[in-house]
Amino acid sequence: MELSYILNELGEDRELYFNAVAPPILQTSNFAASTVADLRRMLQNEAEAHLYTRGNNPTVTILEKKIAALEGAEHAIAFGSGIAAVSAAILSQVSAGDHIVSVKKPYFWTNALMNKFLPRFGVEVTMVDGTDPENYRNAIKHNTRLLYMESPNSYTFELQDIAAVAAIAKEHNCSTIIDNSFASPINQNPIAMGVDLVVHSCTKYIGGHSDVMGGVICGRRESINRIFEREFMTLGAILPPQDAWLLIRGLRTLPLRMERIAASTRQVVSFLDSHPKVEKVYFPFLPSHPQYKLAQKQLRNNTGQFSVLLKTDDIKRVEAFCDKLQHFLMAASWGGHESLIYPIAASYTEGGLKSSLPFNLVRFYIGLEDPEYLIKDIAQALEQI
Ligand SMILES: *Cc1c(COP(=O)(O)O)cnc(C)c1O
Repeated sequence: MELSYILNELGEDRELYFNAVAPPILQTSNFAASTVADLRRMLQNEAEAHLYTRGNNPTVTILEKKIAALEGAEHAIAFGSGIAAVSAAILSQVSAGDHIVSVKKPYFWTNALMNKFLPRFGVEVTMVDGTDPENYRNAIKHNTRLLYMESPNSYTFELQDIAAVAAIAKEHNCSTIIDNSFASPINQNPIAMGVDLVVHSCTKYIGGHSDVMGGVICGRRESINRIFEREFMTLGAILPPQDAWLLIRGLRTLPLRMERIAASTRQVVSFLDSHPKVEKVYFPFLPSHPQYKLAQKQLRNNTGQFSVLLKTDDIKRVEAFCDKLQHFLMAASWGGHESLIYPIAASYTEGGLKSSLPFNLVRFYIGLEDPEYLIKDIAQALEQI
C-alpha cells in the first residue's frame, strides 16, 4: 500500500461524515442497535463492532487502520499510552509458570513490569545483551514463551538483529514482541522481519507535537482480536477519540518530519563526533559504530535520538553544559517539534540516587529547528567542559 494513500485516504470513509476532509471526533460512550438481532450480532463479535467506546470508537478505528497499514500488519489496537500497549502485549503472551527472554535495559516502565510485577504472578524474566542473537537462544528454557525486543535500545541505542531473533523464536515455538517506538513505523517494519507483535508509544513520533499520549499494538487480526477480548476490555486503558484525532493529524506529516529530523540529526552528530570536548557519540548510523551494517540493514534511516559522553569526570561541568543550552528543553520523552536533552546526571545525588549509566551521558533529541541554530547553541555550551 502506498504511504500517501495510507496517510490521506485509508479508513476515512468520508462519505459517512458529510465528506468532511478532517475526520469527526465521535465523542460518545455508546452506540445504539436498531434491533435485537443487530445487538446480538454486535455482542457476538464486539472486537469488530461499534458497541461501546471502551471497545471500539470510529475515530480511534481510523487511526488503528492507518498504523496497522504503516506497519504492514493485518490489524492494530490503540491504547491510552505506550506503556499500556507494552503491558497488554506482554500480558497477552504469558501465564503463571512461563518465562520471558528480554533485551536488557528496556524502557524504564517496561523494565518495572518485567522485574517488579510479573514475578508476583509467577512469570520469570531473563534479560540478555541483545547485540548477539545467540544470547536469546542460550537463555531459552523449556517454559520460555516470549522473546522481547526494543531495537534500538533506550539511551545507548544497541540494536538487536530482529530477523535473527524472530527466527530463533520460531524454532523454539516462542512468540516475539518488539517496541518499535524509537524508529517510528516510517523507518522500521518488524512484521516483515518475522515479529508477531509490534508496539509503539504514539506519544513520540506519531503524535509529533508533545501534546497527546497514546500507544498501539499491531499484529495478525486473530492475535489483536484476542488481546481485545482479554487484556484490552478488562484493563480499560483506552485511547479517547479526541486524542485519536490528534494522532491522526500527527500522521499526516509523519514522513515529512522524519525526513527533516533525520537530516538535521546527521548534521548535529557530525559536529559533535569531531568535537574535542566529546568523548563518544552513541548513534548507530555513524560508520564507526560497531552495528552500523545492521542499522543499515533493518532501519531505513536514522532518527533524532543519540547520546553523547562528555569529556569530563566532573559532574558540575556536565550540569553547567546542560544548564547553558538555550534552545534545548530539558525534558523526558522525544519525538515532538522541539529539541530536548535528558542528562543522566539528574539521576545522581550525593546521598543515594544513582544510575547504571555514567553521569556524563546526555541524551539528545533533535526536533524540527534549523540544525545550524542548534549547533551554535551546543558549541557555546561546550565551552563549559
Ligand atoms: C516513551 C516510551 C514508552 C512509553 O510510552 P508512553 O506513551 O510514555 O506510555 C515505551 N517505550 C519506549 C521505547 C518509549 O520511549
